[in-house]
Amino acid sequence: MRSLPSSYELVAPHSLEHVLALMAEEPGTWTPVAGGTEVMVQFGAGKLAARRLVDIGGLAELRTITERGDELHVGAGITYADLRRNPVVASEFSMLSAAASWTGSIANQNRGTIGGNIVNASPAADSLPALLVYEAELVLVSTRGERRVPYVDFHTGYKQMRILPDELIRTIVLPRRYRDYVCCARKVGPRNAQAISKLCMAALAKTSSNRVDEIRIAFGSMAPVPLRLSKTESVLNGSTWSEATLRAARATLQTEVSPIDDIRSTREYRIAVAGNLLEEFLRGLFSKPPNAVLERWNSLSDVDAASEALSCCGSSAWARSMASARPYSDVQELLDRASEVWRGLGADDWMEAFRSHPRIGERHAEKATTAVSAEWSEGEQHDVQNAEEAIKQAIADGNRLYEERFGRIYIVCATGKRPAEILEILSRRLRNDDETELQESASEQEKILQLRLKKWLKQEGA
Ligand SMILES: Cc1cc2nc3c(=O)[nH]c(=O)nc-3n(C[C@H](O)[C@H](O)[C@H](O)COP(=O)(O)OP(=O)(O)OC[C@H]3O[C@@H](n4cnc5c(N)ncnc54)[C@H](O)[C@@H]3O)c2cc1C
Repeated sequence: MRSLPSSYELVAPHSLEHVLALMAEEPGTWTPVAGGTEVMVQFGAGKLAARRLVDIGGLAELRTITERGDELHVGAGITYADLRRNPVVASEFSMLSAAASWTGSIANQNRGTIGGNIVNASPAADSLPALLVYEAELVLVSTRGERRVPYVDFHTGYKQMRILPDELIRTIVLPRRYRDYVCCARKVGPRNAQAISKLCMAALAKTSSNRVDEIRIAFGSMAPVPLRLSKTESVLNGSTWSEATLRAARATLQTEVSPIDDIRSTREYRIAVAGNLLEEFLRGLFSKPPNAVLERWNSLSDVDAASEALSCCGSSAWARSMASARPYSDVQELLDRASEVWRGLGADDWMEAFRSHPRIGERHAEKATTAVSAEWSEGEQHDVQNAEEAIKQAIADGNRLYEERFGRIYIVCATGKRPAEILEILSRRLRNDDETELQESASEQEKILQLRLKKWLKQEGA
């Protein structure tokens, strides 16, 4: 040890109030010690400039994790071991639990605190990128009262931060709105634990189908302070997932970061690995388990693939176009394309598809159709087949009027509709003009084909 203990003064008040009063008496003279995992390293190395130390490690006021409505309040004196064990942190702020689990050794995790990690302000600190993406706020306290600072504004430069000499961090406030987000925390170092990060990432995202609704990405060990990648986020927010989107995001990341070059790693390595981590996260968001039906259908000949597709929609132009655009990488791509092709067809092709359905209430279609299509039609119209005679008769009369009026079969997506509802829609549509009715029939056929595609894709255990 290169320090002389007797040249230091250490006090341990029993309450937060007493600590704050002491710090207010002579601001800047007292240095708080929480877990001491940083302070004692400096002490041991003879580099601890502060001579007067105030122990805050035992303060109960800083050692609670409390649920307050839509916020989780984490005391600054919470250790990594506390963080790891807390069920709310584990389920709603899993990136903090992950960072806690790979910080230092078990001994470090038992002593080291989140407040100490923030104020120590190492660019490589593992929990700080998570605080950035969770949009945490810090509650700073002094004898003058409390103030809240968004964490993003707290660190202003290397080891620079917005805290006054008489202030302590009391609480880290986490907004509880991430339950349905996908989160990913990664540490890159010689080992996961007992090693300082060459790079660490925290990212979360919300997606719907093939779209990035919201994404946040932050890196540690990249700059003098933990870095949020707002330009890369802008490229991704609202975008549809594709290889081109991924390339654009990686390219923006490269221009957005200007990593540090230090003993642990080079600038080039950090840029390359940051891009890889982002790519891994994005691919994970959109990779879906392969669909067995789709994979088999992708591998058929064009003729066989088109013939199978006819069960979902009786237009041969639609089926051929769907088959020729294979392979589809996933189900969503197929569903999107199915609607796109359908809408782009002409009236004759639409008519061909309409003719492949039996009349509502009947079993046989005008145009020869596949056995699968006939079976599905029966299922779709099951309720009408079993309806009261009076309703069935009213539908049959309506069908006749409709065919006299428009010269073709009445098309409605019967799935989930009661017979009376189908009759009501039929009566209303008899009042449509020709063009409106054609568009309405096409839109009902589009619903049918989408439902049938989904049913088809679920076969064979897919
Ligand atoms: C062997 C070893 C391995 C480590 N590995 C990692 C690692 O993998 N990842 C990582 O991120 N870190 C690591 N660290 C760093 C360290 O453990 C963390 O930064 C820890 O969170 C510091 O917390 P502490 O309570 O021990 O801080 P202390 O040493 O008590 O204090 C650190 C600084 O914070 C101030 N402070 C503490 N609490 C407050 C508060 N509430 N308000 C205001 N100021 C406060 C102190 O005055 C001091 O300036 C490692 C350290 C060691 C020694």
